Amino acid sequence: KLNGKNQYSIYRTELDGEQAKQSEEMVKNLEQAIESDQIDVYYQPKIDAKTEDIAGFEALVRWQHPELGIISPGLFVPLAEQSGLIHKIGLLVIEKAARCLKAWQTRYELPLTMSINLSPIQLNDNRLIDRISYVINQTGIQAKYLDFEITESEKFKSVKDALVMFNRIVDMGCTLSIDDFGTGHSTLDYLRKIPAKTLKIDQVFVKNIGLSPDDEAILDATIDMAKRVGHFIVAEGVETESQRQYLSHKGCDYFQGYLFSRPLPATKIEDILDQRAQI
Ligand code: C2E
Ligand code: CA
Ligand code: CA
Ligand code: CA
Repeated sequence: KLNGKNQYSIYRTELDGEQAKQSEEMVKNLEQAIESDQIDVYYQPKIDAKTEDIAGFEALVRWQHPELGIISPGLFVPLAEQSGLIHKIGLLVIEKAARCLKAWQTRYELPLTMSINLSPIQLNDNRLIDRISYVINQTGIQAKYLDFEITESEKFKSVKDALVMFNRIVDMGCTLSIDDFGTGHSTLDYLRKIPAKTLKIDQVFVKNIGLSPDDEAILDATIDMAKRVGHFIVAEGVETESQRQYLSHKGCDYFQGYLFSRPLPATKIEDILDQRAQI
């Protein structure tokens, strides 16, 4: 029995060693990727539920690897958070997204908005506020068109400090959205304390429309509650017409999902906006 345990721990150590080496290697690669401009941003349209117009976009980071192709954030954002590279990557995303948004607003004369995901790790650094404000000045974008998507997380050094940051972001004139609501750590207490305008319903609940009566009940209650406290509601992961109809009937304000568009590179978004402008 003892022996078995020892073998297990040796095996564990070797495995952890191997994994540590691998992620060290990947952190190096990621550092190089940042330097050589392989970090790119895709944009997913956010659709106004009533008019079906494009109201804005969510910026979603991508790693354009020269050999491996596009690497999705699920694979490198956690590593970026652990290594601290998320501060640089996050800033890159804010800069690129704000620059694109300004160009599109000017070219199409539309009051488009841009939602940018903030990692809880980014909120542990006080310099974030100065950097956002620098980007706003540099690009000439109006702060009110920049929205930051946040999740509640155990990764905050202190929830109190995070709340201070949230208020500073709002004081700058930007808006906040609570992402992935209904899963993980986002709680009702969070909803009360955070100066957010929008609540994003996690795609799990959208996926289960018509499939899980329990999830449907939670979805209905969430939408009802969000409306009562005066929040806008974005439903994400909308893939089917029946999901759209259900959510529209319940009073969702905005949709995101493959039914409308996948996240796309800036040039593809411009093609879509060009087409819409001609109608
Ligand atoms: P998220 O913020 O919840 O983003 C929504 C994810 O759902 C995106 O995955 C998007 O491509 C995907 N999605 C959108 N519509 C549909 C749909 O109809 N069906 C399905 N199945 N999926 C849909 P993505 O781009 O791979 O991003 C994954 C996560 O990575 C994001 O989840 C977010 O937590 C994180 N992330 C992405 N970009 C950034 C970033 O710039 N900074 C930080 N800190 N995190 C980011
Ligand atoms: Ca998001
Ligand atoms: Ca989400
Ligand atoms: Ca998510």
